[in-house]
Amino acid sequence: MSTAAICEHCKFWVETGGTDEGLVGECRHHAPHPGLVDGAGGGALRFALWPVTRENDWCGRFEERGLANHEILERVALIEKMEAERKARAR
Ligand code: SF4
Repeated sequence: MSTAAICEHCKFWVETGGTDEGLVGECRHHAPHPGLVDGAGGGALRFALWPVTRENDWCGRFEERGLANHEILERVALIEKMEAERKARAR
């Protein structure tokens, strides 16, 4: 099954939360960049920054991720439901 080549379906994307406009996540295609933020007492905190993208963003490095077990089970259940509805209509 072909899926849209967007971050949500990319094997490098890790969902981290959501907004009113949809899900957001981190792209793990490359190593994180070092970042600094203002800390308490005027100091600076250093940490790693991953690029943050929205679920519908995309780039040329997209690679489709495999389905998680729950996604496979959801698809099987949907197919079974559709088949039961088809048989009911055929009677
Ligand atoms: S930015 Fe590109 S590589 Fe990163 S998650 Fe999105 S599609 Fe994948």
